[in-house]
Amino acid sequence: MKSYSPEQIWEMDKNHFIHPYTDFATFKDEGSQVVTGAKGTSITDSSGKSYLDGIAGLWCVNIGHGREEMANAIADQVMQMEYFNPFGHSTNTPGSILAAKLAELAPGDLNHVFYTCGGSTAIDSTIRLIHFYNNVRGKPDKKKIISRNDAYHGSTYVAANLTGIHATKYSFDRIANDWINHVSAANLYRRPLGAENLSEAEYTQFLVNEFENRIIQLGADSVAAFIAEPIMGAGGVLVAPEGYHKAMKAICEKYDILYIADEVVTGFGRLGHFFASKAIYDMQPDIIISAKGITSGYIPLGAAIISEKIYQVISKPQCEGGLFSMGFTYTGHPVACSAALKNIEIMERENICEHVQQVGAYFQEQICSLADLPIVGDCRGSHLMMGVEFVADKTNKTPFPMEAEISKRLFEHCAKLGLIVRPIGNIIVMSPPLTISREESDFATKTFRTSIEKTM
Ligand code: PLP
Repeated sequence: MKSYSPEQIWEMDKNHFIHPYTDFATFKDEGSQVVTGAKGTSITDSSGKSYLDGIAGLWCVNIGHGREEMANAIADQVMQMEYFNPFGHSTNTPGSILAAKLAELAPGDLNHVFYTCGGSTAIDSTIRLIHFYNNVRGKPDKKKIISRNDAYHGSTYVAANLTGIHATKYSFDRIANDWINHVSAANLYRRPLGAENLSEAEYTQFLVNEFENRIIQLGADSVAAFIAEPIMGAGGVLVAPEGYHKAMKAICEKYDILYIADEVVTGFGRLGHFFASKAIYDMQPDIIISAKGITSGYIPLGAAIISEKIYQVISKPQCEGGLFSMGFTYTGHPVACSAALKNIEIMERENICEHVQQVGAYFQEQICSLADLPIVGDCRGSHLMMGVEFVADKTNKTPFPMEAEISKRLFEHCAKLGLIVRPIGNIIVMSPPLTISREESDFATKTFRTSIEKTM
């Protein structure tokens, strides 16, 4: 590639590159940071400054940056066979091996994999697949999906509509029908009216009752699926109260509703297991959505891993209503699947899940120790998926006004000290590569504490 000066890059960037989720007015005023290098848990920008990557790219570079083995796996597959379509009877080796491996890693009878290009496309495809499933099994009215306020499920049309973060909507349209519905987020810190003083168990019951009442109100025969992240990510790192996911699944089973676990962030080791639903929450979903950590961000890939029950229906012959007519040019792309296989091999060989169980627990404890600071309202999350919410008044949980730009200022201070964190509203998120050491974890928390103290 031809080389360009940082100024030339900035010119091309601001004039031509449409950045995701960006306020273009401030972006053009303030400029962008060009990230030019990445190795292990660190990134380097065009000025040569290094930072601890406290967000693993965007909760995805799970095995760390710059692994030569990953580059070789990708290059080898390109040289061997970069692409041929998998439609109908042709296939490719990495796609087949990876599907079998995902079936082995996923809990219970989640044995069948539909590949996509990322998380959003996996969500959209899943909803289409579920509608098809209900048509084939003679329940064409069962189409409604229940999601949650503050959920994040992506940026394609359906995924964006399932998303419950209102700040992502503003002037964007909603799908003009009633088949996407939202219930309350499972937010222990900011609870819905009437649930403020309940115990965790009572709060779970409160949310479950709300869910069941919504199903009854919509008509159980019209509700196809419930979708939830095991821990809400972009919505503010919200950990559900004890027993929540299992109890929600029980309601789904009662009304013949599928449970979709969106493990785009929580999967692939972030919470110390390949998938969190069963291992941590003792809940067997009908579908798991995976992306991000599946290739540790080295190349795009998404997957919907579906149960035997669903597969038996969608794989029926055309004469019985089947014929699975959906898929992408890049479904099961061999290069992406090779990268995923190498990523899994590295995770298993280096016992990365076990490492997260230890260092992640330490990181969680360290982040939670920030609770003594006067502007820290809540520290929450699990292992290497943590969030800190800042408040102007701790007793009343009064949020900082947007103009205070608290998380932006914190982000800038942390960056000055060599740490990248992620600002979301009044929350700072930290989700470092899973290979983070104890020493790096100490650096991250100490730097974060100093930045909070200086920003107060
Ligand atoms: N689901 C969750 C929980 C996510 O956090 C994201 C992205 O951040 C998505 C889905 C969408 O994934 P992608 O950005 O790969 O389309």
